[in-house]
Amino acid sequence: MPVYDYVVIGGGTAGSVIASRLTEDPDVTVAVIEGGPTDVDREDVLTLRRWLGLLGGELDYDYPTTEQPRGNSHIRHSRARVLGGCSSHNTLISFKPLPGDWDEWAEAGAEGWDAASMDPYFARLRNNIVPVDEKDRNAIARDFVEAARTAADVPRVEGFNKKPFHEGVGFFDLAYHPENNKRSSASVAYLHPFLDRPNLHLMLETWAYRLELDGPRATGVHVRTKDGEELLVEARREVLVCAGAVDTPRLLLHSGIGPKADLEALGIPVVLDLPGVGENLLDHPESVIVWETDGPIPENSAMDSDAGLFVRRDEDSRGPDLMFHFYQIPFTDNPERLGYEKPEHGVSMTPNIPKPRSRGRLHLTSADPSVKPALDFRYFTDEEDYDARTLVDGIRLAREIAKTEPLAGWLKREVCPGPEITSDEEISEYARKVAHTVYHPAGTCRMGDPTDELAVVDPQLRIRGLKSIRIADASVFPTMTAVNPMIGVLMVGEKCAELLAEAATLGGEA
Ligand SMILES: Cc1cc2nc3c(=O)[nH]c(=O)nc-3n(C[C@H](O)[C@H](O)[C@H](O)COP(=O)(O)OP(=O)(O)OC[C@H]3O[C@@H](n4cnc5c(N)ncnc54)[C@H](O)[C@@H]3O)c2cc1C
Repeated sequence: MPVYDYVVIGGGTAGSVIASRLTEDPDVTVAVIEGGPTDVDREDVLTLRRWLGLLGGELDYDYPTTEQPRGNSHIRHSRARVLGGCSSHNTLISFKPLPGDWDEWAEAGAEGWDAASMDPYFARLRNNIVPVDEKDRNAIARDFVEAARTAADVPRVEGFNKKPFHEGVGFFDLAYHPENNKRSSASVAYLHPFLDRPNLHLMLETWAYRLELDGPRATGVHVRTKDGEELLVEARREVLVCAGAVDTPRLLLHSGIGPKADLEALGIPVVLDLPGVGENLLDHPESVIVWETDGPIPENSAMDSDAGLFVRRDEDSRGPDLMFHFYQIPFTDNPERLGYEKPEHGVSMTPNIPKPRSRGRLHLTSADPSVKPALDFRYFTDEEDYDARTLVDGIRLAREIAKTEPLAGWLKREVCPGPEITSDEEISEYARKVAHTVYHPAGTCRMGDPTDELAVVDPQLRIRGLKSIRIADASVFPTMTAVNPMIGVLMVGEKCAELLAEAATLGGEA
């Protein structure tokens, strides 16, 4: 029976950080159970600009969404099946969460996760986080930045992570190496330099399907290896669940940890009635508006969506409440289902909801661990219709930007929704039906204090009611960050590593 001090389930974004930090101590042994293969020497994975080619392929778990009566039921949620997790197939846009994001967590019961307390973890990150390189700044993206600055009346920002902002437009910071367009993903930054550590054991293409518990204490996890062998991998100190916002609650539920009635209905023996597992499913939905350009645009780019805009419509909002990615490609996958045609050359703006109010839910439909869970995001179901209204405002603002020079001179016609779609109702209908995701599911095992009945972990990331087991990944987010979440997830990893070191020093049982 393999036994390690720590067993990390998921060698993804947060899991890579934790495994790397723990094995800095040569006396500590760590096993990483990772469902996917290595990313070492995989040019298709390591080259940032090839990200779109990975979606839906062999390295994608590819989760469907349930029927979305007010949204788009065809959304597929990409989740990476490879070392580094989603940081190995995402676009690596890198935002330190804004102070308001962290403070909101602390107010939601995550004591010690306020902005001032979290700031040092950003400084620790090993990733190479730099603004999009000059050579990668496409002429049309530069002109988008200029036009958006005028039309949205926001400041031009150079280096979004230099100081907190409420609004602004500019080129993103990315976790990449501009000289060769290679990723500075969690695996590249945290694992590749240390693969020869004798105390780090990577178990690749190995699937964790059930936690092992001895009473309330987690002692290990049952896994199936690439060769179909079933093993129990044991942890002397702690089990760290880092399988992401979909697979972490999935693993807990299959281990009998979750809402009692749901588990019983599926015939899964209940180990712990924890009603919050799978609840509070968050995402950043966005819509799209596409223009045909007057001929081809220059080729250079870091990853085809290098610039963005943040707007604060409501002055009382703590941070931005409308965001755009600018794509220098015509992003018509969803509009095509409604009959729109993809122009040969074109660009897109994607109005995005930084603080969506709709809340979804993840649940199992079968006791068979190989059956994918159901992801019901309940997109655009918030009572005040805030989410849909944000997209309507976004499409209207996008049209103003498109009318403004120097961007206007590039654009031949609005392809979708098309100039004939003008009323709020029509824009809302279009925006919701073509809405897609920027792949930010979070919140399904949220952190909170004892008064929060739906909290799954406490502010030390320990699963309520159990011992020697923590969760560290996007599922612990109590609320969504206004900005793209990956840096927040890396910081969760750093903080978890510190909590583990403190617990080990104290010598007590977690
Ligand atoms: C296409 C795409 C683009 C994105 N772009 C950005 C962006 O530009 N900026 C940004 O901030 N965020 C972006 N995100 C979101 C961001 O990447 C994620 O929020 C973050 O990486 C999630 O990290 P995690 O540690 O929670 O999970 P993951 O990184 O997904 O790690 C989970 C790991 O666990 C493994 N695993 C899962 N289940 C099991 C199991 N049962 N047994 C063994 N292993 C298992 C998986 O293989 C994976 O390696 C994007 C996401 C996607 C998919």
